[in-house]
Amino acid sequence: MRAVRGRIAILGAGIMGASLAITMSRRGYAVSLFDKENEPVACASRWNEGKIHLGYLYGADPSLLTAKHLVSGGLQFGTLVSELIGNNLVEHTTFADDIYLVHRDSIIGAEALGRTFERVDALLHDHADASNYLVDVSAARSRRLSKQELADVTDSEQIVGGFKVPERSVNTRWIADRLCEVLKGEPNITLRMASKILSARPVDEIDGRWRVAVEGEESDAFDVVVNCLWEGRLAVDRTAGLEPTPGWSHRYRLCLFGRTRRPVDVGCAVVALGPFGDIKNYDGRNFYISWYPAGLLAESSELSIATPAAMDASGRQQIIDDVRARITQLVPNVSRMFDEAEELQLRGGFVFAQGRGSLSDPKATIHRRDQFGINRRGSYLSIDTGKYSTAPWLAEKLTRQICRIE
Ligand SMILES: Cc1cc2nc3c(=O)[nH]c(=O)nc-3n(C[C@H](O)[C@H](O)[C@H](O)COP(=O)(O)OP(=O)(O)OC[C@H]3O[C@@H](n4cnc5c(N)ncnc54)[C@H](O)[C@@H]3O)c2cc1C
Repeated sequence: MRAVRGRIAILGAGIMGASLAITMSRRGYAVSLFDKENEPVACASRWNEGKIHLGYLYGADPSLLTAKHLVSGGLQFGTLVSELIGNNLVEHTTFADDIYLVHRDSIIGAEALGRTFERVDALLHDHADASNYLVDVSAARSRRLSKQELADVTDSEQIVGGFKVPERSVNTRWIADRLCEVLKGEPNITLRMASKILSARPVDEIDGRWRVAVEGEESDAFDVVVNCLWEGRLAVDRTAGLEPTPGWSHRYRLCLFGRTRRPVDVGCAVVALGPFGDIKNYDGRNFYISWYPAGLLAESSELSIATPAAMDASGRQQIIDDVRARITQLVPNVSRMFDEAEELQLRGGFVFAQGRGSLSDPKATIHRRDQFGINRRGSYLSIDTGKYSTAPWLAEKLTRQICRIE
């Protein structure tokens, strides 16, 4: 057996904490992985759309800084996750390019969006990892849909144009289950579930060991502490002496996750750009559907945000009905998914962003996501995951950084 190289506490068992725990454990560290939930990967990382971002969705950032910040993580996602879970993602990846439908109230018009998409295409072609995406995108291009192609998807006058974009999504529930299996089987990982983290403080010097306080107990000291708490991150950072950079926001969103009795032939679509909706069909039977205003339950720019109170059955049904009505108005085909559904869950989670404002405001800083990443105070590190798609790539970066610390 390899000697243990050091003790590391990882706070938060979403995709960020889980990916880091697995890579650090495989490097020979003794990992304690803490989470307030009873099971790992139970929150936003299980219940999200799984778009593996290449930057197209951030067409309202003309500087392209968001696309540049997202692209490496997106391109490497498939390879890195396959290594983590020892399994190929192909059967759990959407099987066609995304269709972006431009709404007449889009904050960016179709012409301007098309020009930005061309710049993102160029970014991909120049990238060394372009062939390593979920599908090879080294020669792929976004393109405007013909009138007929658009008419095949929508007859709504609210949609004024459409694009085919070489972006894919993955079934996050399937990946969450695989990550849980690996976490439970790794000999160097101790799962500390049902453990709410309150604070992190140095035992003595900030470059030395750190102690984390868990509700109801004082935990041991660790050589390295990494905060991956997502919506709970900033409050713990403050106790650790890392002052959050002003300008963040938290939101809590609900969406529909369904499974049909038999395969349904409905393509993936994103209504762009603003507070609209998406459709994801991962494998013919598992799908995700959202209508943003219907599912947005809470927004805050405070340091922390509480989980919204549980809704009664009629409140939940109202959201389901609203999502269905709004999305089928634009993409009528989607009603087949609802008609064939054998399971329909209304689930979701928090979105943290180093940005604020309304999605319908083109000037809002929420349209930029170029600030996420790693922050550090001695042996305490804090990580803003940014996106689901960037977590495994950031875990690799963090692992390299931490191994240099020791
Ligand atoms: C509806 C929706 C759709 C999305 N779509 C996409 C998409 O298509 N593509 C994409 O890239 N991203 C998407 N995202 C964002 C994505 O889900 C997140 O970026 C990602 O899951 C964050 O991973 P994480 O591990 O940092 O956070 P999480 O998965 O939330 O993990 C954080 C963990 O910390 C725990 N925790 C928090 N506070 C405490 C505390 N004080 N003590 C103990 N434990 C605590 C939580 O229980 C949780 O398990 C979406 C998010 C939502 C909600």
